[in-house]
Amino acid sequence: MNIAKVVVDVPASQINRVFDYLIPDHLTDTIEVGMRVIVPFGPRTIMGYVLALTDHSEVEGLKPIKSLMDIVPILTEELIEVGKWLANHTMSFYISTFQAMLPQALKADYHKLIHRLTIDQLPESLERAFAGRDYLDFDELEASDVPLSQFKQSLDDGDLEVIYQVKRKDNIKKQTFVKKISSTAQLDEYTAHLTNQAKKQKLMVEFLVDLNEPILLKTFLTKMKTTRQTIKPLIDHNLITLIEEEVYREPYDDQAIDRTAPLKLKDQQAEALTAINQSFDQQKDDVFVLHGVTGSGKTEVYLQAIAHVMNEGKEAIVLVPEISLTPQMVNRFKGRFGSDVAVMHSALSKGERFDEWRKVQRKEVKVVVGARSAVFAPFENLGLIIIDEEHEASYKQEDHPRYHAKDVAIQRAKHHKCPVILGSATPTLETYARAKKGVYQLLEMPDRSNLSEMPEIDLVDMRDELHAGNRTMFSRKLIEAIKIRLEKQEQIVLFLNRRGYSTFVMCRDCGDVIECPDCDISLTYHRKQNRLKCHYCDYHEAVPNKCPSCESETIRYFGTGTQKVEESLSQLIPEARIIRMDVDTTQRKGSHERLLKQFAKKQADILLGTQMIAKGLDFPDVTLVGVLAADSLFNLPDFRAAERTFQLITQVSGRAGRHHLTGEVIVQSYTPDHYSIDYARNYDYQGFFAKEMALRKAFQYPPYYYLTLITVSHPNPNRAQEVTRVISQLLNKHLSNETKILGPTPSPIERIKNRYRFQCMIKYKYEPNQHNVLARILQYYEDMMRKEDLLIQIDLQPYQL
Ligand code: ADP
Ligand code: ZN
Ligand code: ZN
Repeated sequence: MNIAKVVVDVPASQINRVFDYLIPDHLTDTIEVGMRVIVPFGPRTIMGYVLALTDHSEVEGLKPIKSLMDIVPILTEELIEVGKWLANHTMSFYISTFQAMLPQALKADYHKLIHRLTIDQLPESLERAFAGRDYLDFDELEASDVPLSQFKQSLDDGDLEVIYQVKRKDNIKKQTFVKKISSTAQLDEYTAHLTNQAKKQKLMVEFLVDLNEPILLKTFLTKMKTTRQTIKPLIDHNLITLIEEEVYREPYDDQAIDRTAPLKLKDQQAEALTAINQSFDQQKDDVFVLHGVTGSGKTEVYLQAIAHVMNEGKEAIVLVPEISLTPQMVNRFKGRFGSDVAVMHSALSKGERFDEWRKVQRKEVKVVVGARSAVFAPFENLGLIIIDEEHEASYKQEDHPRYHAKDVAIQRAKHHKCPVILGSATPTLETYARAKKGVYQLLEMPDRSNLSEMPEIDLVDMRDELHAGNRTMFSRKLIEAIKIRLEKQEQIVLFLNRRGYSTFVMCRDCGDVIECPDCDISLTYHRKQNRLKCHYCDYHEAVPNKCPSCESETIRYFGTGTQKVEESLSQLIPEARIIRMDVDTTQRKGSHERLLKQFAKKQADILLGTQMIAKGLDFPDVTLVGVLAADSLFNLPDFRAAERTFQLITQVSGRAGRHHLTGEVIVQSYTPDHYSIDYARNYDYQGFFAKEMALRKAFQYPPYYYLTLITVSHPNPNRAQEVTRVISQLLNKHLSNETKILGPTPSPIERIKNRYRFQCMIKYKYEPNQHNVLARILQYYEDMMRKEDLLIQIDLQPYQL
């Protein structure tokens, strides 16, 4: 084997080519599939992944690999197969797909350097910048007084070249320990000879003798109130030594978590568990849909299924939505399996994520609990993959590669011959329809496990409030109910849907809303920084005191952010202690945890928040849940709007009365007769499913039809529209007659970061040709995409329209 097939790190590459490289002799014994390598690529040296080793190549004059970046492979052969499959399946690039599978710490950084090729005199400013060196850092050039035109001229003259070099970095954290290397007797002898002046040394030696194990250098020096210098004689005498050891950055304090024993299962749980365990024992790749109401004990089923798998020496992946990766959820797994659990999600630092990933790679853990990308955990003996709250939109990545974690889970399960569990109180219509058809295995858990009833859901028509002269966001009923809880010292969760409630600035005279200059979206007011920010790009500006259009001074904030709700609630019920949880109050690392802890300790009566409080939380004293505006979801232009409303109300209701106390839910709405609210209120999933399926069928939406969304963007709106039109025509011509092409239309947000966006949609039942046709269209536009800043994005089965 002297040739390696390598996927190279060229982000702009629109093609999925794999390049051949020669393996130099000194690397033939060490190189393995799945390692990162450094290779020449044009004038650059870049990083790449070895996908295969082989003996022959069609290409002449291959360049050799420069060096290896790993000593063990970071991608398993299975993950390489999954990556290739995924790139094809989602029409993404190999390189971004593999990068999405790995922790960010393994991504290469590059130095941009300028190489001097000539010994002749360069223009004076350049000579000065190089200062006799052959290489100049690009940053240094930019900081210098060299005119850009001059630099370009020298490049064109062939006196200089720009090269890229992979920055070698080691993301491993190391710590220095002090360790005694002599015997205790030798040390004693040494101290015996120490004079009084060397009292400190004596103390240090005695301390180490008593301790009898290595101690962190930093801790040691602090304890001894000394400096590194004073321990030097001890090192010189070979009595102690300093050792460097790799350490993990531990995001969780395992000691603080109480261990739990398995609960005795209720019948519905036992039945589900038996089915799952049997499937595992028979090495089947069944997909189970665990449809259980909130509180039915799904998590306990997961825990016991994992225990079964671990007993057989196998491993498990548990996916939970990012926002419900609360310490409470993590602790349930750590509480059962202790240090066998690694946790992966984006709230961890880059280093922590890398360390958790390495625990998996080194087979030091058996279970991974994490968000979407944890589905790629590099286990080699997978026995089970669980996706909790499988209906959550966050399992779909909205950026390249546009994958759904569910598809990856099912693909991996096929390879490992192991079951998948999709758990939810409100499965997506797609999932539940498949379960009913028998494609997936349906497991129903209709009852709550701790015998408490599902809370009563009361509906308040906010229009009546308005008629009665109540202009606040709080109905009289909700305020009354809050006051009763305060008296009884019970707790309250108030939920506000963020998407419907951002604060914007509007002029009362001319009605102008202040928008981002680059995106067609109103700016959101952020109180803390007193600025207006765009949620699509980085744009922000100071709050104007005059309307930019008509110069009127009657410009003011509209909409209701969580802050404003908090203020108005404080006015209505001054005695209430409120904790607000939203993106603003949880920005700092650990603040999420801190706020939840305060609430758990009953240092507050009301937890007020956005989506992030809708799931996973389990507080025994919460007996009232309020949904402030249920409408804000189904007013979105998305065919899943009703489904989302139903899911949300069901989910939020699950937060009330989870234990001995009975709960109550109050849902406020301006359109209380909407069917999604009505079914949610009666906890009627089957009813909602039937109604919504009928509508989807009538309007030809998933799960009856599939959708593909094609978005074209360009700085010039005419060009974007034109390309979209041509693409629609091509699709119409080459796809089957039954398939519908919708559009071209402007995208819901017509402009983002100064690019105009148009879209068309493919709606189809059976379209075996789709991938081919789309691939040919992309190929056709490849050159134009490179040359004129044209972008074509394809989202197969989009989640959020
Ligand atoms: P879900 O994940 O379906 O919402 P949980 O697993 O969180 O449900 O269970 C809800 C509550 O019921 C938890 O407090 C849990 O400890 C409890 N519970 C679960 N299974 C049992 C059981 N078999 N016996 C007693 N209590 C249980
Ligand atoms: Zn105005
Ligand atoms: Zn913007």
